[in-house]
Amino acid sequence: ARRIVVKVGSSSLTTATGGLDADRVDALVDVLAKIRSGGEREIVLVSSGAIAAGLAPLGLRRRPKDLARQQAAASVGQGLLVARYTASFARYGVRVGQILLTSDDMSRRAHHRNASRTLDKLLAMGAFPVVNENDTVATDEIRFGDNDRLAALVAHLVHADLLVLLSDIDGVYDGNPSKPGTSRIAEVREPADLDGIEIGSAGKAGVGTGGMVTKVEAARIAAAAGIPVVLTNTVHAADALSGGDTGTYFHATGKR
Ligand code: ADP
Repeated sequence: ARRIVVKVGSSSLTTATGGLDADRVDALVDVLAKIRSGGEREIVLVSSGAIAAGLAPLGLRRRPKDLARQQAAASVGQGLLVARYTASFARYGVRVGQILLTSDDMSRRAHHRNASRTLDKLLAMGAFPVVNENDTVATDEIRFGDNDRLAALVAHLVHADLLVLLSDIDGVYDGNPSKPGTSRIAEVREPADLDGIEIGSAGKAGVGTGGMVTKVEAARIAAAAGIPVVLTNTVHAADALSGGDTGTYFHATGKR
């Protein structure tokens, strides 16, 4: 089967006020469940959204500024986020397995091997793996990039054939996309293709954390490891997962 790692950002899973949006989770799960049901594709999801899911239950009205409270919100929210995925996949009779990782785990042999074996086994047993950063012990993803980097490392870990980065924008633009006259870049053959292009941070304050910078970085890590990357809007997830022409395609630059 073709193995695909899909990463979805907070901005694709939250309401306008920053809480977890159950309808958006269901819409994403509808696509993922349908694509995997054919049996030709194995999917690993890297999902952000734990902090968002923890806000309302802790009486917070917006994402806190201090790291410790963000971690507390993530702790409350992670269980709720996975419960949401579990309920949503249950509509298709699919079990969800939670995997919490840090980027450190990827560089420690024993951790790396165990994580990889657990993911393989979950897939072999027909369960659906949902990965997130272990925010209690690691804060890289809270601070920079909302799991983009973690997704690239996971793609490498599971020997993925494709990494799909889902966001609130339909690709990398050749300048700040809020300015007129900028347009989507359809393909990146090598990192130098993006030289001189303004890759900026998130437009909407508060929800996403890395903007386009960390996504392009993640795409480069995966491409260098021999894994092509599609970066597109979450509404085009079905196209991206079934090999359709959408978003920005990063060709693999390295060998697997
Ligand atoms: P997510 O929460 O999905 O991870 P972010 O909000 O962190 O996403 O990042 C996506 C945002 O990055 C876009 O909505 C856009 O405002 C911003 N951005 C900055 N520069 C670019 C660019 N060159 N191309 C595309 N998007 C860009």
